Amino acid sequence: MKHRFTIKYKDQSTTLNSRLALEQNLTGDDILAILASHKLRMMIFDVMKKIEPTSKENVSRLRHFAKRIQQLEFEAQKQWKFEPDASKHSWWWDIPHCSCPVHANWKTWNGRILGIKSDLCKEIVDANCIIHG
Ligand SMILES: [Zn+2]
Repeated sequence: MKHRFTIKYKDQSTTLNSRLALEQNLTGDDILAILASHKLRMMIFDVMKKIEPTSKENVSRLRHFAKRIQQLEFEAQKQWKFEPDASKHSWWWDIPHCSCPVHANWKTWNGRILGIKSDLCKEIVDANCIIHG
């Protein structure tokens, strides 16, 4: 039987890789925990979208939420039964108000996931990004 594990929150949705879930021997509880992490990520993104980076205080709030997103992704890696590894994170460039290049980072992320060791597999950060710059 083929399962689809999708979670939606307002205009955002995520579908888990069900083949990977099988490979990692995840239980129903593991999958529910991962979906809950994604929902929390989407809720935080929703809050962040409403914060305009027009003041130092707001930028500081956005960066605080970005750190929470990173913690959440570490938790999700454990829920997936992977070793926590920041170099394999993929949520950071979707953070609202982040101006880092999405397409280039997807490509380098794929390289890291496939175990390609290259200088081209480094994170690509926009020096002017208010979150990561
Ligand atoms: Zn950024």
